[in-house]
Amino acid sequence: MVEVGTLIWRSHKQTIDVVVMNDVDVSTGIFQMNKFVHVWMHHDAETTRYTCDCSMYGILINVNDADEVCCHIRFLKEHVEANIHSLFNSDSDTLKTAIGVMLKRSIASIGQPVVKLDQHKLNHKFSVFSDDQIASVIVTLEKNRFVCTNGECRALKSHKRKAVSLDDSASLCQHLRTLNQNKAPWKEFVTELLEDDNTNIPVTDVPEEPLHCKIVSNDIEH
Ligand SMILES: [Zn+2]
Ligand SMILES: [Zn+2]
Repeated sequence: MVEVGTLIWRSHKQTIDVVVMNDVDVSTGIFQMNKFVHVWMHHDAETTRYTCDCSMYGILINVNDADEVCCHIRFLKEHVEANIHSLFNSDSDTLKTAIGVMLKRSIASIGQPVVKLDQHKLNHKFSVFSDDQIASVIVTLEKNRFVCTNGECRALKSHKRKAVSLDDSASLCQHLRTLNQNKAPWKEFVTELLEDDNTNIPVTDVPEEPLHCKIVSNDIEH
């Protein structure tokens, strides 16, 4: 996790912290470079309680003490919890270990509505804020199409759209709406994919503008 993993702090409030990190395959225990989970730390005066949206936590919460078994919560308890105070206070210079350096990097994009998580060539993953700016969900961008993985959004059928038609779409889920309002983290990947998808268009006809959306979506007028 410390050497190759992703750990990104999404929200930091007095009673809640939310971080996103790599998932681990529940059956093989293999670290997953391009799958991510959100972990919540709920603070009260005395203690911190954890919840995680990984499948391991979902399975174990009903039969066991999931706090002790979910590897994400174990990692945060063992390596992060004791450093939170230093991390968010002026003594963060004391964090000089490998974990400390990782933690300092993890808070760089705190509060940003859309954060890219993957290092994959084609299959992109973003952590996108919900409207409360505390919770985040994973949205995938693959073959020029966004899919929000949140269960409620899926149920409402507002979770799946071509990236090029976000602007024209009235019934977006809150996360796709947020993506539409924050194009900077993703627009370069859509351009790549559009060029790949339009192999029948001569290269010289492809405009240089990054979001040449209208080429594929302007047939409404005709
Ligand atoms: Zn977990
Ligand atoms: Zn959504």
